Amino acid sequence: MSTSVEHIECLIVGSGPAGYTAAIYAARADLKPVMYAGMQPGGQLTITTEVENYPGYPEGIMGPEMMELFRKQAERFGTDIRYGMITSVDFSGKAPFRLVADENHEILADTVIIATGASAKWLGIPSEEKLNGRGVSACAVCDGFFFRGKDVAIVGAGDTACEEASYLAKICSKVYMIVRRDEFRASKAMVNRVMNTPNIEVLFDSETDEILGEDKVIGARLKNTKTGELKEIAINGFFVAIGHHPNTDIFKGFLDMDETGYLQTIPGTSKTNIEGVFACGDAQDKVYRQAVTAAGSGCMAALDAERYLAAKQDA
Ligand code: NDP
Repeated sequence: MSTSVEHIECLIVGSGPAGYTAAIYAARADLKPVMYAGMQPGGQLTITTEVENYPGYPEGIMGPEMMELFRKQAERFGTDIRYGMITSVDFSGKAPFRLVADENHEILADTVIIATGASAKWLGIPSEEKLNGRGVSACAVCDGFFFRGKDVAIVGAGDTACEEASYLAKICSKVYMIVRRDEFRASKAMVNRVMNTPNIEVLFDSETDEILGEDKVIGARLKNTKTGELKEIAINGFFVAIGHHPNTDIFKGFLDMDETGYLQTIPGTSKTNIEGVFACGDAQDKVYRQAVTAAGSGCMAALDAERYLAAKQDA
């Protein structure tokens, strides 16, 4: 551990659309934000291809390029962006909060904005990794459009999978839903919607043995979990919707979370249960999970942090 302790007015943890937007607002409000950008600067958008639903880009933009522009805008107003991780936190006392970066640099922060995002869960089979971005995707809303009029498959049986299957069914000619058990996990209403959509075919008791194709998806080989029987389906797109994991493990024990680790904020604000600690983006949102909603909540977090600091100064 280094002996020097750095004092920061506003520390932003994470560098997706939420973190960068918080940085732009915080920097312009002269909070001199320091951002720890994490191991994958730019977050989930850096592993998507074209983003066509973010307002302001009528021709669409590649995810990594968009995050590069967000970064430049945050830097332009003076955000100090560091390519490292916050490795531990201590929110047990009042502000300033003690945090450790990269396991050896101690920081005292008057406010902390958490924008650590969430990571999609993957099946973990080699063909999924090989074909990621070449027909394999974890976001139907982002990538479904590229499969207009084509046949696709989606894995999962929760609300997300049902919602995304319904979304894909409007765009694609056929949607296979690959469900590992003989029942759904999703709510009744979602299941009804799926079952009443003529171009969705649900394949129960099925797991993905392999996604087929060399440089793009051409099919999937499925295994019946009860009989062991193998069968192939011809598809162009393969969507994985088996849940997300919010990147909030280091805040356990300090911040209120739901049972799956999503941070809880006071409705209509970015405030957590600890005064001076704010949360935005996918780390606190399991429902919308869009770049534009994350950016909006990042703006809220910076404004909340600014107001918190101003109120403290006035007190
Ligand atoms: P869930 O954890 O609810 O569901 C994950 C699904 O993926 C389960 O059906 C699970 O199967 C399946 N699964 C997990 N691992 C594998 C695997 N290796 N192979 C095949 N299938 C697998 O995640 P969701 O993202 O669907 O939902 C998360 C939360 O967000 C839920 O609370 C949900 O209700 C909520 N939500 C609400 C929405 C709304 O209200 N509009 C929209 C979207 C989400 P199994 O069932 O066999 O375990």
